[in-house]
Amino acid sequence: MAIDGPAGVGKSTVGRMVAVRLNYSFISTGKMYRALAWKALNSGADLENEAALMKTALGTRWEFRAAGGPEPQLCVDGRSLGAEITDETVGKATSAISRFAAVRKFMCEMQRAIGAEGGVVMEGRDIGTNVFPDAEVKVYLDASPRARARRRARQLEGRGLAADSAKILDFIVKRDRQDSQRKNNPLKKADDGHYLDSTDLSIKQVVEEIVRLAKQESK
Ligand code: C5P
Repeated sequence: MAIDGPAGVGKSTVGRMVAVRLNYSFISTGKMYRALAWKALNSGADLENEAALMKTALGTRWEFRAAGGPEPQLCVDGRSLGAEITDETVGKATSAISRFAAVRKFMCEMQRAIGAEGGVVMEGRDIGTNVFPDAEVKVYLDASPRARARRRARQLEGRGLAADSAKILDFIVKRDRQDSQRKNNPLKKADDGHYLDSTDLSIKQVVEEIVRLAKQESK
């Protein structure tokens, strides 16, 4: 199953819950791009240089280790990545490096290998349009930028962190613009995908709707 959509729309939260309901595994492809951006930032690689980024990607040991839930733990060079890849500095760098065709091809091949046997909920920006255009269910999850900024702020506050909604909104809008205007596999709904606007829906309602779509497609 493919779930795509803009930043902060809740694809991971919803995707994990859908995966549990369907007894599938769950993969956030954003984490893979984030991990590469994080490594490039830390190793001083030039984020504008496609060849340097590819050298970093190819020189990385990529692993997914079983973690006792639907989502395997992403490890790069033996290190499991968590909070260090979630901030907006990494988010912005990620959006920059994910423009490059070679980077996208590299990630797409890894993602296809992971999902080859099915039974996976995969979320990202181009899963239904490019990675798995034949997925049994393709959902484009959307919400207004304001609602997404509010959700992000609440999420950060829940973790005891300070959150500036206006700043988050600005980050989100800029990242969406970059992701949807790039030449290679831009963020967009698959022509035959389902559009789901979650602005006024609860997480539970979104999960129920996606599970319903999955059951309907498998009939
Ligand atoms: O979903 P997340 O916010 O973690 O994604 C971070 C960035 O990774 C996105 O803004 C986008 O630039 C990139 N990305 C992508 N294609 C995907 C998943 C993420 O280009 N399939």
